Amino acid sequence: MPIRLYNTLTRQIEDFKPLEGNTVRMYGCGPTVYDFAHIGNYRTFLFQDVLRRYLRYAGYELRHVANLTDVDDNTIRNSQAAGMPLRAYTDKYIEAFLVDRQLLNIEEPEFLVRATDCIPDMVNLIQALVDKGFAYSSEGSVYFKVAAFPPYGQLTHVDFSGVRAGARVDTDKYDKENARDFVLWKAAKEGEPFWETPFGPGRPGWHIECSAMSMKYLGETFDIHSGGSDLIFPHHENEIAQSEAATGKPFVKVWMHAEHLIVNGEKMSKSLGNFYTLRDLINKGYRPSAVRYLLTSVPHRKPLNFTFDGLHQAQQSIERLRNFRFRLTKESFPAGESLTLQNRALEARQKFEAGLDDNLNTAEALGAIFDMVRDGNTAMDRGEFRDGDRGAFLDTLERWDRIFAVLEDDDHAKLVKFGFLKPSTATADSAATAGTDTVKQGVGNGQPGSGLVENLSDEEIEKLIGERAAARRGGNYARSDEIRANLLKAGVILEDTKAGARWKRK
Ligand SMILES: [Zn+2]
Repeated sequence: MPIRLYNTLTRQIEDFKPLEGNTVRMYGCGPTVYDFAHIGNYRTFLFQDVLRRYLRYAGYELRHVANLTDVDDNTIRNSQAAGMPLRAYTDKYIEAFLVDRQLLNIEEPEFLVRATDCIPDMVNLIQALVDKGFAYSSEGSVYFKVAAFPPYGQLTHVDFSGVRAGARVDTDKYDKENARDFVLWKAAKEGEPFWETPFGPGRPGWHIECSAMSMKYLGETFDIHSGGSDLIFPHHENEIAQSEAATGKPFVKVWMHAEHLIVNGEKMSKSLGNFYTLRDLINKGYRPSAVRYLLTSVPHRKPLNFTFDGLHQAQQSIERLRNFRFRLTKESFPAGESLTLQNRALEARQKFEAGLDDNLNTAEALGAIFDMVRDGNTAMDRGEFRDGDRGAFLDTLERWDRIFAVLEDDDHAKLVKFGFLKPSTATADSAATAGTDTVKQGVGNGQPGSGLVENLSDEEIEKLIGERAAARRGGNYARSDEIRANLLKAGVILEDTKAGARWKRK
C-alpha cells in the first residue's frame, strides 16, 4: 500500500509518490538557535524524524534539508543581550541542538544548513522578486508586495485579497489579522550584523531564508515541506508566495505540520513554570529514549499533552519491549516452530506498517507491536513458543525499531559521552555505592520510580554481575547478595531469568 499523507495545502490525505524517480526531496524548518530547543520543538523534529525514517523504510532515497536559523530578530536580540558576536552566540546553541538530536536518536538529514552560509542565495532570490515586480524597496528595506500575488493565502485557506496595498510589516512574526506586505530584506540597524547587497546593507527576513535554502538544495519544486503548525502562517504562506512568484512554478507538493504540545493540559510557558528543554528533563533524571518515545507516540496531527506520568509510562513501555527482546534472544525454547505464532509476528508487522502508511499513525504502530509482545510473552509463558519462532518476532521488532529507535539501551553511555554524567572511576567493590553520589544533578529530587539514570557504566555493571555469578557458583551467597544490594543502591535492578541475569536501570 502506498504511504498516505495529510497535505495542509489540499486539506486531504493523498497517496504519496515522489515527483521524480525514487528520491524524496524534503525540507524541514529547523530551530532558531537563540536558546535551547524545548520539548515542543522536539515534538516537531521527532515527527520529521519518523517521516524520514519511514520513507527510507518504504524504500525511498532521501534528499532532506533542515535549516538552522542563525540570523533573525530573536538571535540578534539575544546575542546583543549576551554581548556576543552573532556567530559565536549561535554556535553555542547549534552545538547544543546537535547533541540533543543524538540523545533523541534523530537522524542526520542529508543537509543541515546555516542561514548565514546562504546569504548570496537569499539576495539573488530577492533580486529576482524585485526584477519581476513582486517586491519593492522602502527606506533601505525590501518588501514583498502581497497584492501582486493573488494566490496568497492558499496554505492558510484564508482570503487575503483585502490586504491594503503599501501597508508593511517589519517583524517576522505576526498574525493573520495583521497580514500585509512583509519584509524580505531588513535595512541595517545600528549595532546589528549586516551584509552588503545591491539594495543596501542589511540582513535577511526570516521567511526568505527557508525559500532560498530549500530551493538551493532541492530545486524549484520539491516533494515535502514540514514544520510545526504554528509556522503555517505567516512563515510557510510567505515562503510559498516568495518562491512561486520568483519561479512561476509550484513550490511544494505536500505540506505537513505537527500540532502543538501542551504540558499538563496547559500551554507551555516560562511564566507558568511548565517550560521544559530536553536538558531540563535529563537533569530531573529522565531518559532521552523515554522522551523520544513519548513525543512520537501521539500521531503528529493531534495535540500532545505532555505529563511526567506519561514520561514514566513511556519508560515502562520501552522496558517491556526490551524485556521481550531479551527473552527472544536469550531464553531457551523447545526445538521446532509454530506457523501460527510466526504468522502472528508477520501480522503485527503488517499492522504497524499499515498504521504508518496511514499518515504516520504512530499510535496504531505502537498498538500493533504491543499486541505482538503480549501474545509472544503469553506463548513463552505457556511453553508454546518454539526455537524456530524467534526470527519472525525479532524481525518485526527490529523493523519497528528502525522507525521508533528506542530498543537500544544506550541512554547512559550517551549521557556520559556528552558530559551530562561524569564517567565513573569507581572500582568494582565501591562502584555500586559510589554511583548515586556522582550524578551531576537531579537524582534524589525526581519523583519515585521516575526512571532515574544512575552513573555506573554498562561495563561496570556487567563486571559486577559476572563477579556475582562467580560468587554464586562458588557458594558465596553472602557476597552475591551484597553485590545485588549494592547494584540496587546504584539504581540497577537485577532479575534472574531462565536466560540468566538481566539488569536494568531503575
Ligand atoms: Zn522555515
